[in-house]
Amino acid sequence: MESKLSLQRWIDEAARQSMSFGDYCLKAQAEELEIPAGAILDRMEKALEVMAEAVKHGLEGKRSRSGLAGGAGSKMQALMEVKPDGFILGRTMSRAVMTALAASESNACMGRIVAAPTAGSSGVLPGVLFSVGDLYCFDRRHLTKGLVVAGCIGRVIASRASLSGAEGGCQAECGSAAAMAAGATVEICGGTPGQVGDAAAIALKNMLGLVCDPVAGLVEVPCVKRNAGAAAQALVAAEMALCGISSAIPVDEVIDAMASIGHSIPQTLKETALGGLATTPTGLRIAGNNSRSYHSCPKKE
Ligand code: SF4
Repeated sequence: MESKLSLQRWIDEAARQSMSFGDYCLKAQAEELEIPAGAILDRMEKALEVMAEAVKHGLEGKRSRSGLAGGAGSKMQALMEVKPDGFILGRTMSRAVMTALAASESNACMGRIVAAPTAGSSGVLPGVLFSVGDLYCFDRRHLTKGLVVAGCIGRVIASRASLSGAEGGCQAECGSAAAMAAGATVEICGGTPGQVGDAAAIALKNMLGLVCDPVAGLVEVPCVKRNAGAAAQALVAAEMALCGISSAIPVDEVIDAMASIGHSIPQTLKETALGGLATTPTGLRIAGNNSRSYHSCPKKE
């Protein structure tokens, strides 16, 4: 594992150099990997392509092998065809929810996804990036800068805490994904480095304590809908940060708090399917019907 990194230090350095956080991260990564910045953006564009294919696959309405997941994204899509603003949420939030559901369902149906940061939370970034991209007509190349920022936030979280539900609960998976997506959104919308940090901190704070309790040990219930919830949290946090609302607790300290909470979460609520929703009467009945109770968020590349 990398030694502890500081997001705040990178944010301060980007601000000192009058660079956007995305530009600063891109330059630093290019130097570290000794490759041109354009090559990194090319890779990010390919990742976005895979994300878009996952969403398309998820919207086909297929069901997972267990039958627990599938069809939610396509239901939202059908609604948006007749009511583009959804019932309540408005176009951008509705689209984020639909897209996150679809990408996450694609994962449950063994489709190809981008584990950003994990397979279990792979719906959050496509949900947020594609809905904001749609709102402002951003092209794919513009969205790549958001992915660069998301990657840097994820890297810091991995170094100070964890990205794994088995280690830190769902706050570490869907919570981290929300923080990454919130920071990415601020970047693509032209926010400052400080606002990127505030968005990440606010999103993560709103997900602290979230346990990992997958029914039948499958990354389907509650995972698919949690991706939609995390996408919504990311947009809420980004909106606040872009308005100039800051996080009272600095981002590195929020990440450290997540690590400490993760240590306090009992083992029954860390991907073992021995507590929470997994051991409700219905959860147990579903598990009984799915004797193929293999588990967890397979980390796909
Ligand atoms: S398996 Fe656990 S950590 Fe992963 S998405 Fe599901 S509940 Fe969250």
